[in-house]
Amino acid sequence: MTAQTSAQQSAPLVGGPQPASHNSPAVVDQLRLPGPTPVPDMVRAAGARQMISHRGAEFHDLLRDVTQRLQGFYQTANTVLVFAASGTGGLEAAIANCFSPGDRVLALSCGHFGDRFADLAAAYGLDVVRLRFEWGQAVDPNAVRQALTDHVNVRGVLLTHNETSTGVQNPVPAIGALTREHDLLLLVDSVSGLGAADLRCDEWGVDVAVTASQKAWMTPPGLTMLSVSPRAWAAYAEARLPRYYFDFGAARKYLDNWETPATPAVSLLFQLQAALQLMDEEGRVAVFARHTAVRDHLRAGVRALGLDLLADDTVASRTVTAVKVPDARRVLAELRAQGVELAGGLGPLEGHLLRIGHMGWVTQDDTAQVLEQLGAVLAK
Ligand code: PMP
Repeated sequence: MTAQTSAQQSAPLVGGPQPASHNSPAVVDQLRLPGPTPVPDMVRAAGARQMISHRGAEFHDLLRDVTQRLQGFYQTANTVLVFAASGTGGLEAAIANCFSPGDRVLALSCGHFGDRFADLAAAYGLDVVRLRFEWGQAVDPNAVRQALTDHVNVRGVLLTHNETSTGVQNPVPAIGALTREHDLLLLVDSVSGLGAADLRCDEWGVDVAVTASQKAWMTPPGLTMLSVSPRAWAAYAEARLPRYYFDFGAARKYLDNWETPATPAVSLLFQLQAALQLMDEEGRVAVFARHTAVRDHLRAGVRALGLDLLADDTVASRTVTAVKVPDARRVLAELRAQGVELAGGLGPLEGHLLRIGHMGWVTQDDTAQVLEQLGAVLAK
């Protein structure tokens, strides 16, 4: 990572004519959403490159390089597939390729995105057993163990690695141990975790892990990336849900030649490659350590402002921090007017939370600036 903070980049994040709303700031200095996240200049520039043939040698090199660098951050020897879609598309692909109609899955949820993963599985006609935890809490492995005893014929477990709606990180190793013990598939939504937080796909037994470009990967929205383990390939061979664009088998066949079945999002792949080069220069361990340090610094700063955090320290997300604030809508509007864009609460927490995104291109200087402006707004 460069010494320059994302707020000090040469051009404003939002330039050009602004809509004539009194709420619209001239410039967003600090885009601190939990996605999309700021895109470094070098990555923005990579998107301006001329097109190339997606059936030519230059593209083969591009897709091979991106795939291998992704495997490094996934900590996996498994196949990694890239599709043009948002993270939801990747989650849909995971369901459609691993199951047959009526298959039973255990969906673990401690927030909005856990619920959505369960809804998605239900929309595909799976028999979804929902195990819910309070928003702000993490998934409890003991409750999962009990659920796996209570419910027979479960074929897979759906888990959110990093619950973006509450700023909670779930215990993937403990859940992975259980799914291994019961010989079940483990599908992990790590849309907002991978690339910033440790997710040892092979060591922890993650069969499919899904992420998306606009999160920790410092790339614009539009790509979803997912890993597929040997056990997931075995499930794929039996799975009878309909799929076409997202067919894992077709994707693997083309990947043998470093191509994709349909026309890929070439510009986004150029950008993802540039972002991965930055991440590899910094080093995986250093990237993860920076996210942990930014989180800890931010949490201490929030507490110093006299505010409460939704998630306990022991389960705190590396990439998004949820802060309890009365009248959160007003605070968000005031911050927006000062050029600081944060997210609010979702569902039952709307109006009660600020969510500060700190993944991808972020340093402590960035979050220090957010804290300073938050302090000033609260003082008013
Ligand atoms: N899961 C999680 C944990 C997320 O944070 C998000 C995006 N906020 C999604 C799924 C959905 O991803 P997308 O908006 O890219 O479809």
